[in-house]
Amino acid sequence: MNQYSRRRSRRRRGRSRNNLPLILSGAVLALILLAGGIFFFKNKGGFPVSLLPASSSNAPGGQALESSKETEPLTEEQALQNLLDEADRLAAGYDYDGAIALLTGNEQFKDTEEAASAVAKYEEIKSTLVRVDPSKVTHVFFHSLIMDTSKAFDGDHKQNGYNQMMTTKDEFDKILQAMYDRGFVLVRLHDIASETTDENGNPVFKAGDIMLPPGKQAFVMSQDDVCYYEYMDGDGFASRMIVGEDGKPVCEMKMDDGSTSAGAYDLVPILDEFIENHPDFSYRGAKAVLAFTGYNGILGYRTAASYGTAEYQAEHPDFNYEEEKAQAAKVAQALKEDGYELASHSWGHRDMGAISMEDFITDTDKWDTEVAPLVGGTDIILFPFGSDVGDWRPYADSNERFQYLKSKGFRYFCNVDSAQYYVQIGADHMRQGRRNLDGYRMYYDLPESNPTKTHLDDLFNVEEVFDRSRPTPVPPMG
Ligand SMILES: [Zn+2]
Repeated sequence: MNQYSRRRSRRRRGRSRNNLPLILSGAVLALILLAGGIFFFKNKGGFPVSLLPASSSNAPGGQALESSKETEPLTEEQALQNLLDEADRLAAGYDYDGAIALLTGNEQFKDTEEAASAVAKYEEIKSTLVRVDPSKVTHVFFHSLIMDTSKAFDGDHKQNGYNQMMTTKDEFDKILQAMYDRGFVLVRLHDIASETTDENGNPVFKAGDIMLPPGKQAFVMSQDDVCYYEYMDGDGFASRMIVGEDGKPVCEMKMDDGSTSAGAYDLVPILDEFIENHPDFSYRGAKAVLAFTGYNGILGYRTAASYGTAEYQAEHPDFNYEEEKAQAAKVAQALKEDGYELASHSWGHRDMGAISMEDFITDTDKWDTEVAPLVGGTDIILFPFGSDVGDWRPYADSNERFQYLKSKGFRYFCNVDSAQYYVQIGADHMRQGRRNLDGYRMYYDLPESNPTKTHLDDLFNVEEVFDRSRPTPVPPMG
């Protein structure tokens, strides 16, 4: 009846037997680099001609709640049921200690038969939990989801890029369900390893103890470029993120009749809904990592310094730069409270391993000045283009780019790699490879494209997921 018992009765499917070596796939990397380059140049194409309304009537997060209704006192039975439900919710998210503490700490009900039997049930499950091997945590990533394939695939010059690099809503829905059915559970990067102090009080990075029932496997999800770039306007994507009436992040999308609708128009609200219905898909409330560049602003708000100039203001009298920044910061805060981790994706979508050291510093500082204050700082960087500041071997202390990022507070470094597992836990940082689940990857993993490809077998059946509304063949990269 409740989520918890549903979870227990669910069948577990086989785990992957696919264990690719931890090597960088040079060809894939090059392709990603090339495709990323296409995006970069398009993105930098100029300033906006049209802007969203500066202040939205659909962002009532700060408004007063409805005047409080007459609240009748709960019966004792209802109060106990609420407590048991709350404990079940915690346990469904694998926080058995929290569930037990909630029940045993409740003076009114701790000695009831119901509470005692729930505690016994949680203790029993706890004794069966298995520690996740931190080196066996896969990481998948997406870009903004295509909500309307007819607009993304309308034959214009952006179609190929979307077809290669984006995932459709339909595909994303199927991926969530398939991975859930296979026992995948979302975790945070900070759950895999985190900074703590050794016996001498010095900071040291340690692998975390993620405890899951047998048959479950941990994974990380991320989404790049959650900026709702201006070039995407009219192409079937959300236009920005707002804080909904329930205080949770939700997306806006422009409708054909010119109106703006708030709803599940991208990964965040879709994932939230899925976890609402399947709380055992999320370890202790973990959601995804969201990465932002800075040059076009974040979350659909035009927060880059170039929008704050007198010239821009003169050309766009209705635009309120300070309000854009305030709204972006408000949404970022709501995302963090909702379980999302926020990350840098470099300021200018730069190849952070290849650009000059001077440009590297300029870009890193710009993100630090323009974006970090909006998101409240971060210790995560998801490199664009699948770039990295080192090769597959652990970062050397002599690596000046690594040192510079560390000096800016970064401790988690993610590149792009098609290996199932790529986790390195260093003395003061963690690295992880990420797998692109986009049109390019899925199309070239279809049996009809290449019967020997098995990049995705551990995650889902690509034939069931691949969206047939895509133009095919999905063009090769480059
Ligand atoms: Zn990117």
